[in-house]
Amino acid sequence: MKAGTRKRLSQKERKAVYELCDGHCAYCGKEITIREMQVDHYLSFEFGFAIAQGKGEIDSMDNYLPACRSCNYRKSGGHIESFRRSVTALHDVLMRDSVTYRDAVRFGQVTPSQHVQQFYYEKIGATIPAMKWDEDFRKMMHDAYFKVVEE
Ligand SMILES: [Zn+2]
Repeated sequence: MKAGTRKRLSQKERKAVYELCDGHCAYCGKEITIREMQVDHYLSFEFGFAIAQGKGEIDSMDNYLPACRSCNYRKSGGHIESFRRSVTALHDVLMRDSVTYRDAVRFGQVTPSQHVQQFYYEKIGATIPAMKWDEDFRKMMHDAYFKVVEE
């Protein structure tokens, strides 16, 4: 499916997505207005079909999360764990690329916490069915891998 074929949400559906995280971006937690909100596909439109197969629809309320423009852009068509890794790696990227950031760390103006990124929706315990599909898929892949290794 191409981007143009994505479902157009009704006002009621947009509102329901918006309320999933109480007016915040599901990822960074920034407050957003319903007009600013971008409806993110938790399992991406580009790669999520294999995971959703037999479980539900990618382009449905089961798979939508509210996102700010920046998070939607950064997450793009990637998997949630790729997005987590890219956000978690920001400190390393800054240390590599920014003299200003290295100076700020050296002088103690910035204290890196370097924790594995937890997303806002995880902090508040918001869930949608697609998260379970993804969890089941990963468990299946994990089991299949270890079955191969054991054989
Ligand atoms: Zn965000």
